[in-house]
Amino acid sequence: MKKLKYLFLSALFVSVSAFAQDQKKDKKEPQQGHSNNNKFKQLYEEFSTPNMYRAASGAPGAAYYQQQADYKMDLVLDDVNAKLSGFETITYTNNSPDNLNYLWVQLDQNMRAKDSKTPLISDDSAQPATTPGRFANSYLTEAFDGGFNIQEVKDSKGRALPHMINRTMMRVEMPTALKSGDSFSFSIKWWYNINDHVNGRGRSGYEYFPEDDNRAYVIAQFYPRMAVYNDVEGWQNSQFWGRDEFALPFGNFEVNITVPADHILDGTGKLTNRKDVFSKEMMKRYEQAKKSYDEPVVIVTQDEAIAKLSTKSTKTKTWKLYAENVRDFGFATSRRYIWDMMSVKIGGKDVMAVSLYGKEGNPLWEDWSTKAVASTLKSYSRMTFDYPYHKAISVHAKEQGMEYPMICWNYGRPDKDGNYSDRTKFGMMSVIIHEVGHNFFPMIVNSDERQWTWMDEGLNTFVQYVAEQDFGKWYPAALSEGQTAYPSRRGPAANIVRYMGGDQDYIAPIMTKGLNTYQFGNNAYSKPGTALNILRETVMGEELFDYAFREYAQRWMFKHPTPEDFFRTMEDASAVDLDWYWRGWFYTTDYVDIGVKDVKKYFVSNEPNAEIKKVAEQRGMKLSDLPPLVYFVEEGSEDFNANLKGKSALENSTTLNEYIMDNFTPAERANIKEPKFFYSVTFEKPGGLVMPIIVEYTYADGTSKTETYPAQIWRLNDKEVSKTLATEKEIVSITVDPKLETADVDTSNNSWPREMKASEFDNFKKKNKN
Ligand SMILES: [Zn+2]
Repeated sequence: MKKLKYLFLSALFVSVSAFAQDQKKDKKEPQQGHSNNNKFKQLYEEFSTPNMYRAASGAPGAAYYQQQADYKMDLVLDDVNAKLSGFETITYTNNSPDNLNYLWVQLDQNMRAKDSKTPLISDDSAQPATTPGRFANSYLTEAFDGGFNIQEVKDSKGRALPHMINRTMMRVEMPTALKSGDSFSFSIKWWYNINDHVNGRGRSGYEYFPEDDNRAYVIAQFYPRMAVYNDVEGWQNSQFWGRDEFALPFGNFEVNITVPADHILDGTGKLTNRKDVFSKEMMKRYEQAKKSYDEPVVIVTQDEAIAKLSTKSTKTKTWKLYAENVRDFGFATSRRYIWDMMSVKIGGKDVMAVSLYGKEGNPLWEDWSTKAVASTLKSYSRMTFDYPYHKAISVHAKEQGMEYPMICWNYGRPDKDGNYSDRTKFGMMSVIIHEVGHNFFPMIVNSDERQWTWMDEGLNTFVQYVAEQDFGKWYPAALSEGQTAYPSRRGPAANIVRYMGGDQDYIAPIMTKGLNTYQFGNNAYSKPGTALNILRETVMGEELFDYAFREYAQRWMFKHPTPEDFFRTMEDASAVDLDWYWRGWFYTTDYVDIGVKDVKKYFVSNEPNAEIKKVAEQRGMKLSDLPPLVYFVEEGSEDFNANLKGKSALENSTTLNEYIMDNFTPAERANIKEPKFFYSVTFEKPGGLVMPIIVEYTYADGTSKTETYPAQIWRLNDKEVSKTLATEKEIVSITVDPKLETADVDTSNNSWPREMKASEFDNFKKKNKN
């Protein structure tokens, strides 16, 4: 008898637990045990094993090293022929434990060489329309010859060094292998034709202004640059096809640039001969700018810039710049430039926020560029580390958005009458915030852009969002009428829904080399940027996230991190297991879709319900054999009795009442809850990503309560899970992700009852379209 009763009770247990999730009996544990694809599996297979160079914590390891490349360069700009020539001496220090038989030098300009393979790998069918400039370049002219002319490669004693050029990479052989700890100095003499970056595209070059026959130059990737050698790639000599950006070691730069005497020039590094190139008036204004923290001071005015356009100087001036601990060097030069500056306090030190722009940038640029630079430095410094350089420059260049240490090029040009749309204004502010932000990622937190586009663009896009929101708060005058916050394009979860839910044939995981990625902007900027924003706001919370993110930035400041160093640090500094998040968002193309599948409403009864009766019958048991039990009866089911409605569980069940009387003290009984309504809510997950379920329960009295079930709720069932709720108030509606913070691609299943909430969502969408 005893045994039989035990069996009966275990059958009952199955039945009772199944009652809340009846359809799921066949589906339990769909993946655990027999499949290796559990979404909470740790990332041991994907990650490389920690070692002496890179620790398991995500920090640089005990034997971490990085190479150093110091440059001395003399450059001459031939403004008449748009040619740049240079003589550079590179001193390369081998801090690796390895002996190096040769060095690899990057010749990025060869992407524009006549024999470049870049045009040959583009899949270009005829477009219905194109700009005349691009049309002419594509079909009417000879291919532009913009490759490097390498005139000599010599060691410090003047002996020619054997070298071999494979497209954008040059291998230089040394007389003997470069031993660990040793340095090698060699020089390269070169020149190239500067490209028109407006009509020919490219990250640097010149814009030509036919109305005054002048050019504005934004110059970068202009010198043979050392490749990175490290513990993860060996030599990073993957070719430059034009898309994947750069991998560069840190070093010190001493650069002398000779340009027409009436040019204004600014670039990476400290100007060491200011008195030679500044007029007395400019010096005076510069001293004022050092003390101006609210408004920029104009160093070269618009009138002064215009006056130079027709009287081109035939003399030259040499600008001398010196930069310490930078991974690259860029500069801008033109007689067209207006120049303004303003000081900004960062960590107790003064940093100069600087803008260079032609008259065509005004009035937008004189109003907002320098303020956007200053604001960005403050926001990013709060999120990472104090900006360590002495200045940050924003240069106006048509259709450009490109970053270098201390200097960047940015678009955003009013029309000829000086009018501009919101699109132009916010486009300009956002690109300045973005490109100045790149000083932090990847110029200082020096990731390998050739391999991992998202490590600079994704992290930067995430902080850009934070910085844009700060900018809107700190400079409300920058917003347009009716706006209460900066209208960020990238960051809000809802803005990636269309991409995430799009055609899977054209989506690649974030962990894909940029060159091979579909929808580059969405893949490398929007998705990782938004994934980090969701991680911060919805999964970890700002406090945990911000501490860990700052830890990552500080650990890898002036070093070379890999994706694992980031992933590991975020966990190491927060005690949040995020392998499931990295796996889903970064290694797959899965999307979020979570909904309410079913809601059942129950009342408590003292009478056995139909389900229990069925089990008893199957087992040949009498109902009188049952132990005292509390029964749930679904509203509207065959054993539902209208009398049960409106009464609490204690009122409906004498069994429960007796249990409480027997087991609780009078004081405990006084605090007992008296729920009247019981709901079994089943959530479904058609989407592949596991995410927390954020649910808003709204009650009949109009109040509501939001509950977040951690993502781990999906660990044993990837398809659907249920929660049973006991409430004193009737629930009238249930909404999953009510604030649209998870990038759920299909919200038509997010609410119960379905129709009502769907129409509310339509209204919400309509409201947000304006
Ligand atoms: Zn970028």
